[in-house]
Amino acid sequence: MTEAKLEPEILEEVIKIREDIHMHPELGFEEVRTSKLIAEKLKELGFEVQENVAKTGVVGLLKGGAGEGKTILVRADIDALPLQEMNDVSYKSIYDGKMHACGHDAHIAIALGVAMKLARIKDQLKGNIKFVFQPAEEGPGGAKPMVEAGVLENPKVDAAVALHVAGLIPEGMIATKPKEFTAAADEFHVILKGPGGHGSAPHNTKDLVAIGSLVVQALNMITAREVDPLEPVVITVGKFSGGTRHNIIGDKAEIHGTIRSFNPEVRDYVNKRVKEIVKGISELFGADVEIEMIRGYPPGYNDPKLTELVVRAAKKAIGEENVVTDIKPIMGAEDFFEFSNGGKIPAVMFWVGVYNKEKGYIYENHSSKFDLGPKALETGVLVMSEVVKEYLSS
Ligand SMILES: [Zn+2]
Ligand SMILES: [Zn+2]
Repeated sequence: MTEAKLEPEILEEVIKIREDIHMHPELGFEEVRTSKLIAEKLKELGFEVQENVAKTGVVGLLKGGAGEGKTILVRADIDALPLQEMNDVSYKSIYDGKMHACGHDAHIAIALGVAMKLARIKDQLKGNIKFVFQPAEEGPGGAKPMVEAGVLENPKVDAAVALHVAGLIPEGMIATKPKEFTAAADEFHVILKGPGGHGSAPHNTKDLVAIGSLVVQALNMITAREVDPLEPVVITVGKFSGGTRHNIIGDKAEIHGTIRSFNPEVRDYVNKRVKEIVKGISELFGADVEIEMIRGYPPGYNDPKLTELVVRAAKKAIGEENVVTDIKPIMGAEDFFEFSNGGKIPAVMFWVGVYNKEKGYIYENHSSKFDLGPKALETGVLVMSEVVKEYLSS
């Protein structure tokens, strides 16, 4: 059994950084204080630093001293969520209605811990490490604008890796799997319009609540009857609204939903069918319809060879018993996979467990009580550092 330990002074600083950022959560593309803190730390370590990349993103480049080699991109997302923190801790968010409830504060602290750890041995490293601190993962997405701003070039990135803390995986463990890892997430926004009127005289109106209900029901036909049952797809209508009171037929209804999928062909098919069904039913019953389809984050595909490397490095860092590979993909989405540039660059992501019943770390990500402890931070730094070392020497 391996009992790897992080240098105590690095762990202490990682904890301090995480608590500082946790207290000062900033939403997507507003991460001004956060970026400044990151850039200052990277400069202190002697990295080449680029600030204001895609608004609030930061890139730090560590050049190994042992000669030319490959370049690995290590990504940390840095945004918080619009949520009121319900934890009673010394580092509780001081901003009302904002909270690091997805653990991106931990991602920043871990990445800076990796930077501190690797800076100490930079003379032994061959190649480069590009630390990418990305805004707005929770939406509208900061990875794509960073790619468009050129973060995959100069030096050219050969592989991309990221971690995400996970509320339900035990503390001290990591989990990953090859191939399908996270889903693609697309959106649809529908507005139905038609003449409203008195609730007692529906024949003089277009009852958009009734028509909208049929649309919602019919969308389920896509997943239930049209897509291969072995292909994972979710269509969720998260918002359906219309009307103002019980005896008025309104003149507007709205339907907003998300489409999750893995297979690119299935993704295209489902997007097309959502549009057709919404349009078809609305026209059939005489409602005017506006449909906006938004193409969101791509499916997350863990490169099998790179995943093998992560598993090997993780076992070395935290012991074989703490590395889990028999997990399922999730229908959640991650814009980290934009850094694979449409599959041209091998990318891999792994989960870092935070669950600890005794310490009260029992809440899922996005809960107003989500929290994590030093052990998770240490695990993240140890595994990610080893992954980078392993990759650059492979
Ligand atoms: Zn999240
Ligand atoms: Zn997240």
